[in-house]
Amino acid sequence: MKCPKCDDESLTRETVGDIEVDHCHACGGVWLDQNELPRLLELKPGDVRELRRGRGRAGDNTHRGKCPRCGTELMRVISAQNRQVTVDKCTECRGVWLDGGELNALFAE
Ligand SMILES: [Zn+2]
Ligand SMILES: [Zn+2]
Repeated sequence: MKCPKCDDESLTRETVGDIEVDHCHACGGVWLDQNELPRLLELKPGDVRELRRGRGRAGDNTHRGKCPRCGTELMRVISAQNRQVTVDKCTECRGVWLDGGELNALFAE
């Protein structure tokens, strides 16, 4: 799968706990399939240290990418977990994209 926020970066599949996430090493973003985000947030912050390390880049939050799974344009929605964080959600397959740093913000809450 391709990163929705980078021009030509492939996502790397990583397993955290028993959850498979897709991680972009260039921008630090993370793709989560439907229902994976609540499960990820139940893990200990130390278990997802690598994924939280991303810093994000200027413009990531305003760049509307396409869903890496089904190609639908992502919608920007305020996270139910932390209203300071705007995530990118696919209305078709219901996966969610977190820009670099956003996962860390959700854990900090
Ligand atoms: Zn990326
Ligand atoms: Zn999708």
